[in-house]
Amino acid sequence: MRLSQILISTLREEPADAEIPSHKLLARAGLIVKTAAGVYTYSPLMWRVVKKFAQIVREELDREGANEVMLPIIQPKELWVSSGRWERYVTDGIMFTLKDRKGSEMCLGPTHEEVMTSFVSAQVNSYKQMPVNCYQIQDKFRDEIRPRFGLMRGREFVMMDAYSFDADEAGLDVAYQKMRAAYCRIFERCGLEYTVVQADSGAIGGAGSEEFMVIADSGEDAILFCRSSGYAANVEKATSKLPDAPAGGEPEAMQKIATPDVKTVAQLEQFFPGWVSGRMAKTVLYHVTWKNKEKVVAVMMRGDLEINEVKLTNALDALKVRLATEDEIKKATGADVGFAGPVGLSEEVPLLADESLRERTNLLTGCNETGFHCLNVNLGRDCRMPSFKDLRTARAGEGCPVSGEPLEEARGIEVGHIFKLGTKYSKAMSATFMDQSGKPTPFVMGCYGIGVSRTPASAVEQNHDMKGIVWPPAIAPFECVVAMLDPKRDEQQALAEQLYGELKDAGVDVCLDDRPMSPGAKFKDNELIGFPVQVFVGRKAAEGQVEFLVRKGMQKDECAAGDVKARVLAALGR
Ligand code: ATP
Ligand code: MG
Repeated sequence: MRLSQILISTLREEPADAEIPSHKLLARAGLIVKTAAGVYTYSPLMWRVVKKFAQIVREELDREGANEVMLPIIQPKELWVSSGRWERYVTDGIMFTLKDRKGSEMCLGPTHEEVMTSFVSAQVNSYKQMPVNCYQIQDKFRDEIRPRFGLMRGREFVMMDAYSFDADEAGLDVAYQKMRAAYCRIFERCGLEYTVVQADSGAIGGAGSEEFMVIADSGEDAILFCRSSGYAANVEKATSKLPDAPAGGEPEAMQKIATPDVKTVAQLEQFFPGWVSGRMAKTVLYHVTWKNKEKVVAVMMRGDLEINEVKLTNALDALKVRLATEDEIKKATGADVGFAGPVGLSEEVPLLADESLRERTNLLTGCNETGFHCLNVNLGRDCRMPSFKDLRTARAGEGCPVSGEPLEEARGIEVGHIFKLGTKYSKAMSATFMDQSGKPTPFVMGCYGIGVSRTPASAVEQNHDMKGIVWPPAIAPFECVVAMLDPKRDEQQALAEQLYGELKDAGVDVCLDDRPMSPGAKFKDNELIGFPVQVFVGRKAAEGQVEFLVRKGMQKDECAAGDVKARVLAALGR
């Protein structure tokens, strides 16, 4: 391909809303152009990148026997009602919904469990037809609260989503492991530094789930990991050894203490020296939404630890949780903000406590009375016994749940996610097959996603320098560019054309930069766009000499035209 025939428009300035390197560089290189918040147009070069990545995904999934299909973007509400998910997605506000001319409600697919389950269950009647694994690569639509970071968190984005159907759990385990292996090969082929972590299964639900994280400072996810045991988990899911705290001793008589001006933890610390770090139990009120009701719930946590809202949502089997507002707190506790506690809490307000408070004695808590706190509170004696759950956010430095060594923290970008769904959808949607004894049995399912537009952006996040993008060869728009610095000079044109032809014949994905622009601008443009190998044909063309650049590390030297092919192939690792 000749770059003079490709729409390329690099920019001097990055867009004002670009915060992270990949967004800045993809926009400056003219590879993506914003159409609306979280909605992007892919330029011809960027579309080549996305297609190359999609092709790697296809090859590796096909090797595991998965079938590519194409599902509809527009989906009827009834399908989502049949799985019980319409409500949750509408409450979340994540789903784009619309009405057709007859007034029927529809949505733009944010994910495709429903469509795929109804498709496969109509096709597969017997255990003999399994295992089945189908995938598609297509646009997804999610009205994200904060679309940002360019392709990282879009409202329309490209995803590969696969769904496996098996007769039993053992079959699902095999399907899951095959997909896990395929994912590893996919991200390895792209030269990405990634890690596989235990994950929360979120709104999609189900049992086991792991995320593939590309390690990058700009990552939106926090990961806790342990070098010695190999434990790694998303902080949404991670656990740790409970940090020590002073024991409370034998239960003592509860005392109510006037604390008129104490509103913050710092003030509480001054008022009750020594209690707060070890024996204070804070009570946080949450507004919780379920499918059919809403309620304020009180959540107790050891004072030095933090509540994990993802764990809380799961523990309550809720659609959504958020901190209660001042008014909601006053209404639920009858006191000002800052005095909530288990003592004297209305029976109307469900009471949960983190495992860290189980069997702890003589706590300092609020008592739902403005201006008072209680000392020596013993749960179950001075107040209701709360329901204990793991609600704590694990933190770096705490002991690994496996080895006990201190956990370390890293930031990651989620590029893939694999889930064991089990029979969650097949049961809800009555999707069954005939098992060996002729009995209708629900499919045992898995689902698997890869961010097809997010992964190339993550590759840029990991591979760039001051001058621009450094594409990993496997997904570069072209592996190599041969640029004629002055296309008007016959000898430059002839040599560039010759090298371009030779490289094409050698199977290199090469382009010819024949654009009429100054040599300086051409160097800069190619550095910014980031082709892995760059050959510049300039003044020394007559002597059969060219400039040879390996973009990674910017290693530049002169090279005889006759050596170009061998050097390009070597630089590409062939
Ligand atoms: P996140 O936690 O980042 O919101 P998710 O867990 O909702 O993602 P999944 O439903 O697991 O995402 O989707 C599968 C893959 O699709 C993700 O691993 C991610 O790579 C990609 N993806 C999800 N949401 C977006 C988005 N808004 N923009 C671009 N890619 C996305
Ligand atoms: Mg996910």
